[in-house]
Amino acid sequence: MSTANTKPPLIPINVAIFVGLPLAAVLLVPAWGLYHGFDALQWGWALLFLYLNGMSITGGYHRLWSHRAYEARSPLKWFFACWGAGALQNSILIWASDHRRHHRYVDDDARDPYSAGRGLWFSHMGWMLRRYQRNQPDFSNARDLENDPVVMWQHRHYVPLTIGMNLLLPIGLGAWHGDIIGTVLLVGLLRLVVNHHVTFFINSLAHYWGSRPYTEANSARDNGLLAFLTYGEGYHNFHHIFQGDYRNGIRWWQWDPTKWMINLCSRVGLATNLRRVPDFRIQRAILDTEFQRAHRKLQQSGNCESLRAILEREYLEFTESINRWKALQAQRYGRTREQLGGVLEEKRQHLQHKWEHAAVRTKLKELEYSLKMQRKRLGLLMEQLQLQQARLA
Ligand SMILES: [Zn+2]
Ligand SMILES: [Zn+2]
Repeated sequence: MSTANTKPPLIPINVAIFVGLPLAAVLLVPAWGLYHGFDALQWGWALLFLYLNGMSITGGYHRLWSHRAYEARSPLKWFFACWGAGALQNSILIWASDHRRHHRYVDDDARDPYSAGRGLWFSHMGWMLRRYQRNQPDFSNARDLENDPVVMWQHRHYVPLTIGMNLLLPIGLGAWHGDIIGTVLLVGLLRLVVNHHVTFFINSLAHYWGSRPYTEANSARDNGLLAFLTYGEGYHNFHHIFQGDYRNGIRWWQWDPTKWMINLCSRVGLATNLRRVPDFRIQRAILDTEFQRAHRKLQQSGNCESLRAILEREYLEFTESINRWKALQAQRYGRTREQLGGVLEEKRQHLQHKWEHAAVRTKLKELEYSLKMQRKRLGLLMEQLQLQQARLA
């Protein structure tokens, strides 16, 4: 039996969308460009639509609804629901449910809906072309979303909504502008196809190409170029270990317009409770990964007893720092609970607790700093190891 026969059947509507539309774009957009031409306003609209659709997927579908990395007020939710439907990537409910499965079973070829282990093509768009998933959708991992009226409204009215955003809106703009065909081709078709593929890069290329500073437990990678193309989602290694953080690019210089948008929304009261992972946990993840690499390297190089002893000492210090951090956190949250319980009435006691709180914060900062120093020492150790290997070679 050939492998083609064992594959599930194609889904005609998805083939038309994901294969037919790109082909149409490749043929029709240049043809209309040569025959009639496009003007700057049409290109400007296409770019604007690209960002509105793309960031409704990354900021809305992904960080808000799939991961609950922050909370949004109703107007922002409606905005994401409408412009997200314009991205033609299914309803929020289906998208977020699939995505939660992707995180939970990442790289598990049987249960991760777009597992990178099944190849670049499969994780990019192959998974959508055939009936790989069961006929009955399973939303058991998205009960919270089923209680969200905006999500359910969008799910029920998804088809007219996406037709309105992708076809009627460009037709309206084109009629006003005096070139319906050109506007539909650029703002409707080309923008849609480009947005599809840049978003799909997150499932495909961001699991193949880039570095893994935070964890090597899964295939997700950090890649600055992909972040630029994907509205900030290219820091995928960070995202897979800290999925509840509203940021993907955590450094100020890392390109993450989705994070900036959420931040801006919080300043004007449209977003609240932005979740951030404590710096210490981030440093800990990086060091953990670096220790694993160092151990591996030392194991391969054999005769480096002195370096091995240093590494073991560093690792011990690392473990102690983590234990101290955990103890401090427990102390801190214990105090917060006590305060919430309304036990403290007197001002003196309140001030004393405030002082203790600040002292705990200082100790936490010191621990963060000690991890940073440890990273530097570990880097030096690795350089030393490389020198030693070069000498032996
Ligand atoms: Zn992923
Ligand atoms: Zn995610």
